[in-house]
Amino acid sequence: MSQKYVIGNWKLNPATVSDAAALATSLPANDGCTVGVVPSLVHLSAVKSALADGILLGVQDIAYKTAETGAFTGDVSACQVADIGATFTLVGHSERRQYHGESDEILSAKIANAFTHGLSVIYCIGETKDEYERGETFGVLKNQLAILKAFANQADADIAKLIIAYEPVWAIGTGLTPTFDEIEKTHHFIKDELTAFGMTTPILYGGSVNDKNAPNFAKSDVIDGALVGGASLKTDSFTAIIHAFS
Ligand code: PGA
Repeated sequence: MSQKYVIGNWKLNPATVSDAAALATSLPANDGCTVGVVPSLVHLSAVKSALADGILLGVQDIAYKTAETGAFTGDVSACQVADIGATFTLVGHSERRQYHGESDEILSAKIANAFTHGLSVIYCIGETKDEYERGETFGVLKNQLAILKAFANQADADIAKLIIAYEPVWAIGTGLTPTFDEIEKTHHFIKDELTAFGMTTPILYGGSVNDKNAPNFAKSDVIDGALVGGASLKTDSFTAIIHAFS
């Protein structure tokens, strides 16, 4: 069986550093699949200290202008988060695309910056409800994946650090998901697109993953894991999802 991944995206939660540390402490040591959490940047150090060995630490965003240091007020660089112990970053989450207008150029720069400092990248893609209803899903994903082609000629080591998260925008935080067959078809499509670039990367599903639907998703050979938002804030649910993929 291929390696599976369960990643908890805490988004802008919880409100206090002590709650973030408590949530991190409550997570079981990793068994059978790769587990990671992605807290708020201001909670990074506290969460790092509280996590059991083997649980990976990631960030939700990094600066795009530089991978290191410089005159960029308000930014946090790949270099800085790697120094604290983050080993990966999300890039292109739909909430970043939507609320921060992140363009392909910005997303490409972030991926390059992450690789410069040895961070793995979970690159998030997904169609909106309208695009889904108009049958445009594959076209949208093809466009979002196109920026990865520029990284195809880099060292194998970099490519191995790339993971895709397919997250339909309309499934995020809504309790809705595509059908199992739709998700499998879409993952096959993504896999074929990446194969054409000479890339083999794990493909996670995200969008309303919970302890009830995770066992079904975990059965698929083409769903390599889950990117989990809301359910990753509840220890019992997140632990059940980890067990489903282990
Ligand atoms: P959700 O979020 O699990 O709350 O739908 C997933 C995500 O945005 O990564």
